[in-house]
Formats: sequence, C-alpha cells, structure tokens
Amino acid sequence: MTAKSAAAAARSTVYGYPRQGQHRELKKAVEGYWKGRVGADALKETAAELRRANWAQLAEAGIDEVPTGDFSYYDHVLDTSVMVGAVPSRHRAAVDADPLDGYFAMARGNQDVAPLEMTKWFDTNYHYLVPELGPDTVFTADSAKQVAELTEALALGHTARPVLVGPVTYLLLAKPAPGVAEEFEPLTLLDRLLPVYAEVLGALRAAGAEWVQLDEPALVQDRSPAELNAAARAYRDLGALTDRPKLLVASYFDRLGEALPVLAKAPVEGLALDFTEAAAANLDDLAAVGGLPGKRLVAGVVNGRNIWINDHEKSLATLATLLGLAGRVDVAASCSLLHVPLDTAPERDLDPQVLRWLAFARQKTAEIVTLAKGLAQGTGAVAAEIAANRAALASRADSRLTRDPAVRARTAAVTEADARRPQPYPERAVTQRERLRLPLLPTTTVGSFPQTGEVRAARAGLRAGRIDAAGYEERIAAEIAEVIAFQEKAGIDVLVHGEAERNDMVQYFAEQLTGYLATQHGWVQSYGTRYVRPPVLAGDISRPAPMTVGWTTYAQSLTERPVKGMLTGPVTMLAWSFVRDDQPLGETAAQVALALRDEVADLEAAGTPVIQVDEPALRETLPLRAADRPAYLEWATRAFRLTTGGVAPATQIHTHMCYAEFGDIVQAIDDLDADVISLEAARSHMEVAHELAAHGYPREAGPGVYDIHSPRVPGAEEAAALLREGLAAIPAERLWVNPDCGLKTRGWPETRASLENLVAAARTVRAAL
Ligand code: GLN
Ligand code: ZN
Repeated sequence: MTAKSAAAAARSTVYGYPRQGQHRELKKAVEGYWKGRVGADALKETAAELRRANWAQLAEAGIDEVPTGDFSYYDHVLDTSVMVGAVPSRHRAAVDADPLDGYFAMARGNQDVAPLEMTKWFDTNYHYLVPELGPDTVFTADSAKQVAELTEALALGHTARPVLVGPVTYLLLAKPAPGVAEEFEPLTLLDRLLPVYAEVLGALRAAGAEWVQLDEPALVQDRSPAELNAAARAYRDLGALTDRPKLLVASYFDRLGEALPVLAKAPVEGLALDFTEAAAANLDDLAAVGGLPGKRLVAGVVNGRNIWINDHEKSLATLATLLGLAGRVDVAASCSLLHVPLDTAPERDLDPQVLRWLAFARQKTAEIVTLAKGLAQGTGAVAAEIAANRAALASRADSRLTRDPAVRARTAAVTEADARRPQPYPERAVTQRERLRLPLLPTTTVGSFPQTGEVRAARAGLRAGRIDAAGYEERIAAEIAEVIAFQEKAGIDVLVHGEAERNDMVQYFAEQLTGYLATQHGWVQSYGTRYVRPPVLAGDISRPAPMTVGWTTYAQSLTERPVKGMLTGPVTMLAWSFVRDDQPLGETAAQVALALRDEVADLEAAGTPVIQVDEPALRETLPLRAADRPAYLEWATRAFRLTTGGVAPATQIHTHMCYAEFGDIVQAIDDLDADVISLEAARSHMEVAHELAAHGYPREAGPGVYDIHSPRVPGAEEAAALLREGLAAIPAERLWVNPDCGLKTRGWPETRASLENLVAAARTVRAAL
C-alpha cells in the first residue's frame, strides 16, 4: 500500500472513555446498589444507558470505531480476572451465589472475606485490583461481558472494537495469591492462560468482532529477555489461531523499546503506539525496525492523560512521517480517556481564555477526528481547525498566567546554595536536640486527626452559604483545641494541629496558590466509585499570602510543647494535579517549591520549631523506565531541598511517605536532606526500618507502629514489639515513634486508644534502654 492510500484510509478511534457519566450516574447507581437502594436490574439499566450515551457521543463526534468492553462497574483489571476465571478461592462462594455481589466482594471485601489488593495502574492515579494467582490457578473463559457489550454496540449500528487487557500484561500485573511462595511468577502461567484468551477471541469473532484490541502497557516497562520471549510466544500463538478477529496490540504511557521489534514481528494485524512526548522514541524505533508494512498502525498522538489541547500541526507532522511506515495509519488518543474528565462544557467558572486551552475527553475526541480528517483529506480540509488551534496555543504561550515575569526571574536566579542547608545533618541534629529537648524515642503523628462529621458539615455549610467564614473558623478552632488537648493529655512529644481546615492535602494548597486552577466537574476515576478532581497547574506559581501560618500559630499558642507545621511537598503537589505540558516538570516543581519555601520561611519566622513537608508521591511518580529515573529523582529531590533549604539549623525538617517498599529510593530519600522521615511500616513488620539500615541511612526515622488503614486498635505490647524491631535496625538516638500515616479517615475512639497505646509502648521501650 502506498503512503497515499494509507492516508486515505485513516480513521479515528479511542481505547476507552470515562465511565461515570455526565452527572456521575454510575457512582450513584453502584453505591445505591451497595446500600440496597438500587436494585440489580436498575443498576444494569443505568450501566447500559451510560454505554449507549458514550458510544453515541463518540459517534456524533465523528469517531469511526468505538471501543467496547472498556466499561466497568469497578475496574477493568477485575473484569479481566472474571473473564479468565481467576476468582480467588475465598471469593468463590460469593461469586457462585451471585456473580454481581461476588464481583463487588472481590473489589471491596465483605464481613467474611478481604478484597483483592489495590495498586496504581502504571504511573497514573487510577488504581486496579491486583489479580491473585498461584501454581494451582485454573483459568476458565467467561466471555459474557465482552460479548454482551460488543453485541450492544453492534446492534446500535456502531463499528466497534472490543478492548481487553492483554494476557502478558494481565500476568505481569498479578501477584502470588496468599499462601503462595513470594517467588512464584504469574507469567509462568502464560501457557495456561492463552487457550482462555483464544476462547474469548473466538467468542468475540462469532459475535461479529472484526478487530479486537489487546492492551499490553506492561511492555513499555523494562522487561527481561524471558518476559519479552513470553510476549513473542503469546502473540505467535494467538496470531496462529484460525477463525479469530484481527488483533491490534496496544501499548501506552511510554516507549515500547526492546518490545517494539518483538511486537512488530508478531503475526498480528496491527499495533497501537503512544506518540506523545513521553514515548517520542517510538517514532525512531518504529522506523528502525522497518515500520509495519501492510499492517494497521494506530497512532496515539493526542495525549490521553493530560487536559491540554493538542498541538495539531505537530501531530499532523508526526502522522505524515508515520504514513510511510505502515499499511494504514489511524488516529487515536495515546491511552484510554479514562484518565481525563469528561467534558469542559459545564466548567462555567473558568475564564473563557483558559477554557480554550483545555481538552477533556469529549474535546479530545473532536481533536482526534480533526487529525484523522486532516490525514485522510489533506490539511486543507481542516484549515479552520488548525488555525483555531494555533491561535489558542499562542494565547496560552503569551498569557500572563503562564508567563509571570516575577516567578520566572526568581526560578532563574536560584543557585545550588538555595537548595542546601548551611550545616550538614549531624551538626544540625545536635543543635535541634538542644532546642527541642525531646526524650529518646520521641512520639509524634503524621499530621491529620479524624475529620469529624461536624468539620465536614461546617465546610459544606460554608460552601452553601449556611454559615459564614467566622462561624466556620470557630468550628475549626474548636477542633484544633480538642486535638491539642488530647495530644497533651496522651503525652505525645511533638504535636500537630490536626489539619481540620484541609479538604485535601493538595487541593487546600492549590486553592491558595496563584497559577493553580480548580475545575467544578473535572472528576476522574481513582478507583471503584471514588472519583477525584485534580487541580490544574495551569500557570506560573506564586504564593500571594501565607497559607498555614494562622492555624499553626494558633495551635502553638495552646501548648508549651512543640507543634509541627504541616505542608504538602512540591512533588506530591505535581503528582496529584494535572501538570503543565508546556515546560519541563522540573521547572513547574521548582516554581511550586519556591512558593512553599516562602511558607516554610513564614512558619519559621512565626516560631515553628518543626516543619513537616509530606512527599507521599515521591516514589509513585518514579518513571516507568529505570533509565529515566535518575533525571526525575534529580529534579524531585532538588525541589524538596528548595522548599526546605532556607531554614536555620535549629529548625527541624520532617518528611513523610507512605509506601511499603523503599529499597530502590533510599539514596533519593537521603538526598532530600530532611532531618526526620516517617514511613509506613506497621503492616510489613518494620521492613522499611531494615531497608533504611541496610542502605546506611544516616538520619532520624519513624517507621510506623500503628496501621491506620484499619479501625483496629494496636495493643501497647504489639506497638512495643514493633518498636523493638525498629530498634534492631535504627539506634535509639535516631528512632521516632509514630503511626503509619495521617488519621483523617479514622474515628476518634480508635484514634484515642491507639495513640495512648503508642505512647505507652514508647515509654516501656524507653525505660528499658
Ligand atoms: N499530613 C498528611 C496527613 O496526615 C499526610 C497524608 C499522606 O501521607 N497521604 O493526612
Ligand atoms: Zn502517608
């Protein structure tokens, strides 16, 4: 096929669409079902309605081929576990009794059984349910959901393509089931799994699928030769099937690298590749393997995971290059549009100037259609769209919001010294010990205390105008006073104010920083029925006024004991927001860091002796490929040091992270140059303390001795045992005693009892030193 005919055939498609509906109907229906307010039939009808609406929206936008099977009541990886019959034995009875209730039991657990574990979907903020597999796993095909949704779409007259999690990615995302040896590698089950995929593919073919998409994003990560061989085998076997649909193997979030030649050689009819900035190398790599002659290439040129308008001229240039490299080139978003909000149209509070720069899922489908048209008919056919796009991009580039000269001058003037505390940690530790006069094994918490119904009601009341600002502040002041009084009585050494005034640890700051925007309806699925509305880092960031000093000094005024100031760090601010795509992430991080640095300085000037800068997202933002990690850690740790580097040696800087595995970033944690770190450790029996010790981590650390993820109250003896375990790794002079994480999701009764036990444990272990 010539480049010209490849162009003429260009079509538009997407891999998935937001599931929740314009008014989050799915969330309401599913949660209503859990509460018994919505019947199963009504839930299924709502779901079918939403699928119909989504397909109609896509078709009306001009999308030629719509996805099916991307819909989910909870999670598409869980759907895949159901599809291949990988139901853990503890959920078997529930699934047999009622498939829908059993499905939700796997997702959420019930009184009798624990749910599947949940973890992040690659480097996005979507969470999937981790398949549990073992040597005894027996796979059986259950094509019902996939076939039903394809049939629905075909009956509505759509050209439809089922989208499945591919077999290699499915196994690479799985973990050994409880009771199975940790060394067990789920990928060894590939030969057992492939016949099940073959059966599903056959069923979809019989139901009328011309194409089926198999998503293999796990292949954009660093993969061993054995894993690449497994991928080759999988697609050789699936490709060799007779009577199967055409196969489109999709990858996204990064470049395919070593996996590209493997997939290019596989006997499948098409590949879908990410061609956004993060995966730009795919273009050269594809050329290097000689392209995909005679095959279908789906080009993910529109970024599927950010909320900015596309650069059409750039995309059309990429597409033109790709034309020479494949038999047919189609246009798509780089990944499922699940990761962006649905539509910008309801955003009435945003400046129309800014709105022009934003593209949510609905706007992105229009962009994809424009590009496909430009590719098929020539750019002249979309001249008006290109001109409008160019003008919108120019207005963004010239805007005062995105180019604040004062912010730019400040970041440009930053020196290495700004990101370095004047004294090294060991000397600071001595100064701080003299100032704070804390006992050995000092006790503290991670920041938040229970967010009570009253606080939430007061915040809702303030928003709705039922109470005024003074009434709201009275409520917050009362909460803080209660939190301080409790901590004093419990005998905690370093107190916190409890964060009652914060709706969310990122949003609270985003609302107060210039350059950040909030959406009203920009909901994105985090997991199950939980949706978040990430703020948007739209412009240059500055801090017009102190953000936390008032409540922190108020709390300090109530006690003689030190009160810790509490901030969210720059990396976490970026990780849980939509970030700018018009400058390097490190630049945005530096701007946020300098704004936070001002806050740190004001807290210090107000007499705050201890300041904690939380970075729970430091590890989760690690790039997927090891080769990209040093550069990330460089700007990330520098941003933290820029935030905290301006304080006097006597001011103690804490940081906090909640993740179980740290071995690979201990050096980066050390590079933060914080004085104290608190970490999640209770559930892993202080494993992180040993990891820190094994890497010679030289600073103070508080591995958590209280698992805050459950209402369970740890006994004093249990906490003491964990502490002794911690002491086996970290000397008493450097060991802190604290919970795993903040307490905002806990109730007061268990918080009280647990913290009293924690203090008792510290006293017991201290006495024996
Ligand atoms: N200071 C925050 C809190 O206690 C930290 C939360 C987090 O690590 N996710 O709520
Ligand atoms: Zn935490």
